[in-house]
Order: sequence, then structure tokens, then C-alpha cells
Amino acid sequence: MSKIIAARVPIGLIHFLRGWATYNHLKSAVTFYVLASYLLQSYRHLLSRGVRASVRDTWLMLSRFIINLVLLDIEMGKAQTQIEDKLIPSGPDVVRHLALPSSGHDLQWILSEMDAMDSELGRLSGAVYHGGEELQKVIVTAMEKYIVSNPLHPDVFPAIRKMDAEIVAMCLRMYNHPNGAGTTTSGGTESILMSVKTHRDWARATKHIIAPEMVIPATAHAAFFKAAAYFNIKIHCIPVDSTTRQVDLRRVRRAINGNTIMLVGSATNFPDGCQDDIVALGVLAKSHNIGLHVDCCLGSFIMPFLEEAGFPVEPFDFRVEGVTAISCDTHKGSSVIMYRSATLRGYQYYIQPDWAGGVYASPSISGSRPGAILAGTWAAMQFMGHEGYLESCRSIVSCAKTIQRTIREEIPELYILGNPPASTFAFGSKTLNVLEVGDAMSRRGWHLNALGDATGVHLACTRLTIPNIHQFIADLKDSVSDAKIKPQGEGSMVAIYGLGSSSAAGPDMVGKVARMFIDAMYKA
Ligand SMILES: *Cc1c(COP(=O)(O)O)cnc(C)c1O
Repeated sequence: MSKIIAARVPIGLIHFLRGWATYNHLKSAVTFYVLASYLLQSYRHLLSRGVRASVRDTWLMLSRFIINLVLLDIEMGKAQTQIEDKLIPSGPDVVRHLALPSSGHDLQWILSEMDAMDSELGRLSGAVYHGGEELQKVIVTAMEKYIVSNPLHPDVFPAIRKMDAEIVAMCLRMYNHPNGAGTTTSGGTESILMSVKTHRDWARATKHIIAPEMVIPATAHAAFFKAAAYFNIKIHCIPVDSTTRQVDLRRVRRAINGNTIMLVGSATNFPDGCQDDIVALGVLAKSHNIGLHVDCCLGSFIMPFLEEAGFPVEPFDFRVEGVTAISCDTHKGSSVIMYRSATLRGYQYYIQPDWAGGVYASPSISGSRPGAILAGTWAAMQFMGHEGYLESCRSIVSCAKTIQRTIREEIPELYILGNPPASTFAFGSKTLNVLEVGDAMSRRGWHLNALGDATGVHLACTRLTIPNIHQFIADLKDSVSDAKIKPQGEGSMVAIYGLGSSSAAGPDMVGKVARMFIDAMYKA
């Protein structure tokens, strides 16, 4: 019977129907797969963020979308004018150099033009890490000597190659792992980008993870978010405990899953200068066979000397089991990325064996690099020596502790966030708008940073702060009085950070303003 029917139905139709059935199966299978992977993702999100935060996230996403549609562009024109007024000099005296001069100027002209462009330096926090005039002279002389060198060609510049390797070796020893491996980079951000890329490629090669995720404290540096954006890695951003300011370990544990490539801890973090529980993070990393990056970019040459200088400090370096990478800045804008093993470091390299220009091999993001920076760094480390850094740590951290103690004892309106071990800390207030205090400090010439969630204002002590410590404390007391008596509500900290945290559309608005800011930076 079936044979007869089969004979009557055209063969083509049977093929078509068979194909149709297979296609339908395939479609359901794909739909099911997509649905299942979204469900798994949502479940993991729920697990890491918790129910309440997830509902809040969804609500924020929706309300942002709506507010964006309705009213975002209104105040933007005004903001743009304000930013440009602040950043770009104007007036009849400003000469703009928009094209090459037809014939070159002499050094004296160049220097006096630079003086005219420059503004006052001194009472700022953290943007420049300045170590005194003699050190500066050493660095400048070393850089001058190697001004045209390029470590991409070690055969041509043997001294630069040696200094490059020795900078890494000295840092590894400082972080108690002389058998580790590392490379220099152009700064903390590049070190972090490299570490994330390295752990991603390691996890892909050894654990076949193709949809990588990482778990970071909310206080981790923005460079980790940048790395996730550049390298397409999902981030689980875990809140910190409001008292200790350390990442919530229970939630870190919940956020780890089969796709996790690494955890992150800071020693210390940028926002409030506190240190995560690196030992506990190390235990988690080890038991899940994943990476743990400790970001010491801010603590670089302070953290390793705290213990010897007699300050209390929790373990943070390679002596902690489970730590696989540490970033350490030799200066803001020059850095070292270290790994537990040379094998792990290998995942950082980029090699192109059959490039039209010849075999190409480079250790980090940059191809050609300025060798002069390496010479300057190496010279600075030789000049300072162990004793120099120890003394520097002693005086800077004492300064930070003195300011903190004074705040605790003499300024009841303010409190210190967490228990910062080194040179950076933040203060908040339960009774005042602390951003008003920040703006009042700004009117007195102190340019401090506000925390992103507007709960505090941050200060990074450097050698420049030490001679100004009494002035700082006096100004802080006056600023607290200002904020108490007549809050002005119009300083830039209040404007930007108040906005960022006070409305659902805040982050989008701030994002747009930040874009304008970068555009304005490149207006000649
Ligand atoms: C500054 C900083 C970085 C990034 O360094 P850049 O030099 O700005 O690239 C990373 N982590 C911390 C804790 C920092 O303070």
C-alpha cells in the first residue's frame, strides 16, 4: 500500500516535505537553543545580582529608554558651551597654532609659548605623581639620552632591551615572585587590557571557554570595563560592602560559573583607596581554576613597602595563592603587567609569522614604543632605590593617615570610607552633601575627585601634599562650614555627580556630556 502511494506522489514533493520537516526541526532546535541560552544568561545574572537588583536593573533600563526618547537633548547645548568655555582658552591674546609654521621656531620661542599655555600646578590630587626636582632631573636626562630609541628593535637598542627586562624583574621581586614573568606597558590601562586578554586566551585554549565572563568589584578601575568592551567579555560587577568597602565575597562566589575566566581585586582601588580581601579571592580563584588579577596600579610603589614601613597591611601580592596577575604602575602613564608564570604571559603575545613586512612579534598592544620612557623609568628606580621608596612610603602614608585621623577626630560632619591602607582615601558625610564640600575645596584651589555614586570625595596624597597638609586641613574645615551654612548647588561636582546618581536618565546625560568633553579636548 505504502509503495503505491509513494509511487503516486511525485518524488520531488516527498523530498520537499522531508526537507520541510528537517527545516522545522532545525528551526525549533535553534529557537530552543537561543531561548535556553538567554534563560541561562538571565539565571546567571539573577544569581549574581540578586532578585531585587535585577528588577531594579530592568526598571532602570526601561525608564532610561523612555526618558531618552522624551527629553534628553534639552540641556545639552548649554552644557557644551560651558565645557568649551572651561577647557578652551579664548580672548584676543590667544594665538592658535593650527598649521605648521612655515619656518621652524627656536627653543626660546617654544618654551615661552609653552609657559603662556600652561596653568598653575600644585594643589591637585592624583593627576600627576610628582617626586621632587632632583628625581625629575634624573628622569629627564635619561630620557634625553634615549629620545629616539624603540624597544620594538632590541638588536638596534640593546640598552633599552636590558632596561625593559630589568624594570620587570625589579617589580617582580618587589611583589615577591622573582620567578614570575611580565612585560612593560604604556600605562595601567594597557596592563589591565593585556591581563584580561591574556586570561581570555588562556581560558579559550585550556578550558575551551568561548563566551568569557569576569567578576569584578564595583570599585575596580574603569579599565576593566574598557577591557570587557574591547574584548567582548561579559562583566559581573559586584557591589562592595558599605562599611568595609571590600567586594562582597558571597556574591562573587554566586557570580562565578563555567564561563568565568577571572576575578579581580584591587590593592588599592581608585575610588576610596580600600583593598579587597585578596586572600579570600585567591581561594575562590584557585578552587575554580580561574585567574585572579590584583590591580596595584595605584598602590604600585607604596603597597610593597607598607609592611617594612610599619603600617598595617593585609596580603595582596604573589605570596597569596591564587593570584595569577598583578598590574603595577611605575608612574601614571607607564606600567608593568606581571604574571605568575611565563606560560601565562605567552597568551599576551601577538605573533604574525607570515606578514608581508616580515615576521612580526610584539609583547603588548603597542608596536613601536618610546624607549625614552623605559630609560626614564629605569633611571628613576635606580635613583630611588629600596631606601628611597621606603622613605617615600613612610612620609606619604603618614601624611594620608594624619589627614584621616584629623577628619575622624576634628570634623564630625565627615567620615572615612572603609579602612584605606595606603595613600588614597575618600571621605563622605551623613549630614552634608559631600559634593558641596568638594566644590568648596575646588574654589580654594584643591581639585579633588568625586566618587561615581556621589557618596564621597577622594584624595590621593603624593609628595606634593605633604608640605601642604596643614593648609589642606584648614581648607577642609572651612569647606565643611561653607557646605553647612550656604550650600550653593552650582559647583561642577554637584552638577555632574549629583545628576549621575539622582535620576534614571542621569548616566545617559553624563555620558553625553563626557562625549562633548572629549570632542572639546580636540578643539584647537
Ligand atoms: C590609574 C589607575 C589605573 C589605570 O591607569 P592609567 O595610567 O590611567 O591607564 C588602574 N587602576 C587603578 C587603581 C588606577 O588608579
